[in-house]
This record gives sequence, C-alpha cells and structure tokens, in this order.
Amino acid sequence: MTSQIDPVCGVQVEQQNAAGLSEHQGTTYYFHSEECLSKFNQRPEQYAHKPDGAPAPVVPPGEENGRK
Ligand SMILES: [Zn+2]
Repeated sequence: MTSQIDPVCGVQVEQQNAAGLSEHQGTTYYFHSEECLSKFNQRPEQYAHKPDGAPAPVVPPGEENGRK
C-alpha cells in the first residue's frame, strides 16, 4: 500500500482510498475528499509543494534580462 499526503488538509491518504486525484506540474496529488480536490483545482499553486518542503524557486524581478 502506498500512502500519500493530501496537500490541502495534510491527512494521509491511501491511493486506493483516495476520493480523487489531480496532476499538477508532473506530480500526482491524492485527496481524501472531493472537497479537498476541488479546493486544490481552484488554486493548485497554493497547495502544491515538494515533499521535502523546499520552497519553490523564485526568480527575483529584474534578474532575467539584467540591466544595460
Ligand atoms: Zn483533505
């Protein structure tokens, strides 16, 4: 059996018992209820995070083009 963490409410979800799943940026997330699934689908960026808790990489403003 494989447990996943419901990213919305943080409870453990068995894949086989999940009420729903959603894929975001190549990662599949499992949800213990349809309510959590719909919340995730509304704001996937807010709930999706890496399992190790590393913050998402952010490019500081102005770094991309540099200055002339
Ligand atoms: Zn949940």
